[in-house]
Amino acid sequence: MAPDLVLRRARIAGEEDRLVDIAISRGRFAAVGVVPEGDAPAEDLGGRLVVPGLVETHIHLDKSCLLDRCTCHKGTLEEAIASVTAAKRGFTEEDVYQRASRTLEKAIVQGTQQIRTHVEVDPRIGLTSLRALLQLKRDYAWAVDLQICVFPQEGLLDDPGCEEVMVAALEAGADVVGGAPYMDRDSHGQVARIFALAERFGVDIDFHLDFALDPTHLDLIEVCRMAETTGWSGRVAIGHVTKLSAVPGERLVELGARLAAAGVAVTSLPATDLFLTGRDHDHNVPRGVAPVHRLVEMGVTCSLSTNNVLNPFTPFGDCSLVRMSNLYANVAQVGTPAGMAVCLDMVSAMSARLLNLPDYGIREGAPADLVVLDCDSPAAAISEIAQPLIGLKGGRRTFTRPAAQLHRPEGGL
Ligand SMILES: [Zn+2]
Repeated sequence: MAPDLVLRRARIAGEEDRLVDIAISRGRFAAVGVVPEGDAPAEDLGGRLVVPGLVETHIHLDKSCLLDRCTCHKGTLEEAIASVTAAKRGFTEEDVYQRASRTLEKAIVQGTQQIRTHVEVDPRIGLTSLRALLQLKRDYAWAVDLQICVFPQEGLLDDPGCEEVMVAALEAGADVVGGAPYMDRDSHGQVARIFALAERFGVDIDFHLDFALDPTHLDLIEVCRMAETTGWSGRVAIGHVTKLSAVPGERLVELGARLAAAGVAVTSLPATDLFLTGRDHDHNVPRGVAPVHRLVEMGVTCSLSTNNVLNPFTPFGDCSLVRMSNLYANVAQVGTPAGMAVCLDMVSAMSARLLNLPDYGIREGAPADLVVLDCDSPAAAISEIAQPLIGLKGGRRTFTRPAAQLHRPEGGL
């Protein structure tokens, strides 16, 4: 049977030294290698890099696009939380859906096909934002797979009634449970409750964790211990972990080994962490970005993600994971081709492992999900912030972004 589509002269990330043809049939990859000429529609990729869809493991769609409603002066984490808490009082399902879909569409045209979005639930907002995102998940399934992680941004133990809302959210269809232990006086108490919810509902866990610069107390030690005692190794991620940017090299090696052994993954959120960290410094401002490329060397599964978009936590955002990866490489001083390839991995294959995605990858039989980047190697994708040109999800085209063209004058050079 002739394929539905053949992509010719592609380079697959990780094997980019050779050109391959990719045949797609009934929404899946039918062949990768040499595909004979035939009647099937074909597209010449001209040696461009193909990746199996970018993977965003940590974004907040529900509180994106809030800059017009929030006024901040200090730029601290506390101020951002307070400001969004106030804005949240005015959220409606329609409002959350509108802002989240605007952000999601930007992510889609940047080549993102898998997203874990964190959603705030508490006794005041209830399930309003969750309901909007469940609808969004259904409406955009043609372009992106959305995992919804519910979490108590304003605290769990110190916010009476919040756990009941979390339970209701998981019963209503949330995929993952999250936490922010730094918001409760008893951070280990919150960690224990989140693990209990994960066990009750059989879901993965994703914490906002160790989001400060004093590394003398690290909640990640407790999270590692709990992952091991509950058998949840490989199902726990922690995000920010900015305290890891403040530990000496030897201690980082010890902590990396601990995280790897416990099967706890780490997500760095460079845009937010660079924006919020060290606001009490007026010079030599600390960067506060967890050195995840070092943790990868120690066997830790790591990802780079966007986190916040156009809100007081991060007043920037084009939802480009390639740009985020470039930002990380720049601030973390990663300059080798191999190092940059790891940075691309942290927004693609390694992120997919963090999310425990089945069927990720360009190989025969897998769903035909891919993105064409305007470059010929993983290192070039990151160093040059290569533009995504084409996306296919289940073999169907989801976006097209024409490559830029120069219009030279007639007869000119
Ligand atoms: Zn976050």
